Amino acid sequence: MSVDIETVVIGAGVIGLAIAAELAQDGQEVLVIERHRTFGAETSSRNSEVIHAGIYYPQGSLRAKHCVSGRERLYAFAAQYHVPVNRCGKLLVATSEAEIPQLAAIEARAAQNGVTDLRRLGRDEVRALEPDVQCVAATLSPSTGIIDGHAFMAALETILLESGGEVAFNSGVVGIEQAPGGEFQLSVSSGDQVSNLTCRRLVNAAGLGASGIGRMVTGNRRDYVVPTLYPAKGHYFSLSAKAPFKHLIYPMPSPDALGVHLTLDMSGAARFGPDILWQCDLDYGFIDADARREVFAKEIKRYWPALPEAALAPAYTGIRPKIYPQGTPAADFAIHGEEQHGVPGFVALYGIESPGLTSALAIAAHVADILGVRPAIASTASR
Ligand SMILES: Cc1cc2nc3c(=O)[nH]c(=O)nc-3n(C[C@H](O)[C@H](O)[C@H](O)COP(=O)(O)OP(=O)(O)OC[C@H]3O[C@@H](n4cnc5c(N)ncnc54)[C@H](O)[C@@H]3O)c2cc1C
Repeated sequence: MSVDIETVVIGAGVIGLAIAAELAQDGQEVLVIERHRTFGAETSSRNSEVIHAGIYYPQGSLRAKHCVSGRERLYAFAAQYHVPVNRCGKLLVATSEAEIPQLAAIEARAAQNGVTDLRRLGRDEVRALEPDVQCVAATLSPSTGIIDGHAFMAALETILLESGGEVAFNSGVVGIEQAPGGEFQLSVSSGDQVSNLTCRRLVNAAGLGASGIGRMVTGNRRDYVVPTLYPAKGHYFSLSAKAPFKHLIYPMPSPDALGVHLTLDMSGAARFGPDILWQCDLDYGFIDADARREVFAKEIKRYWPALPEAALAPAYTGIRPKIYPQGTPAADFAIHGEEQHGVPGFVALYGIESPGLTSALAIAAHVADILGVRPAIASTASR
C-alpha cells in the first residue's frame, strides 16, 4: 500500500519537535500533527526551564542517561542555534543538620550518573555566594542552567521546516487503524472535518494525550499494557520584587517532586514552584491561590527567611504526565518500540516528565535509533 507520508509524529511539544527535526535532518519525510494552533502549548511551555545536571535519578535509568547526555547536547545546540541559555548553577540546600545525609545521598547518586562537578559548600561558602540564603550546608551544581524553552522549540521547528518537514496545527488525531501491510491509517480532526492520512512510521509524542493515543493502536501485543496516565499538577508563583539571587536554589526533593525551588528566567526574574497536586483534572487552572501562597511562603522561608511574602503572585501551572500512582516508586521514562508493544514502525513515549526538556535531544536520538535512523542533530551539536 502506498502511504501519504513516511513518518508522522503526534505532538508538537519539545519532544515531538526534537524527534521530527532529527528525522527530517536525516532526509526523512516527516509531518508533525498538533491539536493546538501553535507548538509547545502544553507541558513544554509550563515548566521551570531548567537544564538539569542529572543528579537525582537512579543509576542506569533513562532519566539519568538522557538527562546527562541531553544536557551537554542542549548546551551545544543552544550555542550553535543561538538559543538563550544561562549556565548559572544551582545550590541544593540543607536547611538543618538532619538533611545532610540526604545531601550526601544525592551527591553519591550524581557520581554514579557521571555528574562529577558537584561541590559541597559549608554555611560560610554559601553565604559568600548567596548572602540571603539560610542553610547549614549546600551542594553546588555548576552545570545546571536555564534555557529559553520557547526559543529552543522555535529553533527545532525551523530545523524541521528547513529540512523539508511540515507541521499541521489545529489537527487532533482521533483514530488509528492498521492496514494489513502494517501502515497506519490516521483519522485527523480539524475544525468540523475529519480527514484520513496514511503513514509507514508513527511516533506518539502526545504528552498528556499519549496514553489515549497508545490505546488507539490496534496492533499492540496482547500482553502489552499501555501505561496509565496519573496527572499531577504543579503551581508556580512569580516574585514581583527583585530577587537577590544569582543561582537557582533547591530544597531537598521528595520522592515525587523536586520541592518548591527558586528558578530564574532569562531576564533574571524569580519564580517559585512547582508544588505537587495528584489526581488533578487536565486543566491549567490555579487552585486555592491564597491558601497555596501561605504554604509556598512557609517552604521558601526555610531557605530565604527574608522573602517579601506579599510579592508572591500566582503565575501558572503545569501538569506532570506521570505514569505511576501516588505513593508508588517513581517510574522511568517509558520509550516503547516494537520490542515492547510488538508493532513495527511505532514508537511511543510515556511519562516524559522532568527532566524531559533537558533530555529532549538525547530522547530524539534514542527514538531515531529505534526507528533505525542515524542520530543527526544531537551528534552534530555534541561535537
Ligand atoms: C511543572 C513541570 C516542571 C518541569 N520542569 C522541567 C525543567 O525545569 N527541566 C526539564 O528538563 N524538564 C522539566 N519538565 C518536564 C518537561 O517540561 C517535559 O518533559 C516536556 O515538556 C515534555 O514534552 P512533550 O513534548 O512530551 O509534551 P508536551 O509539551 O505536552 O507536548 C505534547 C503535545 O502533544 C499534543 N497532543 C496531545 N494529544 C494529541 C492528539 N490526539 N493529536 C494531536 N496532538 C496531540 C499536545 O497538544 C501537546 O502539544 C517539567 C514538567 C512539568 C510538568
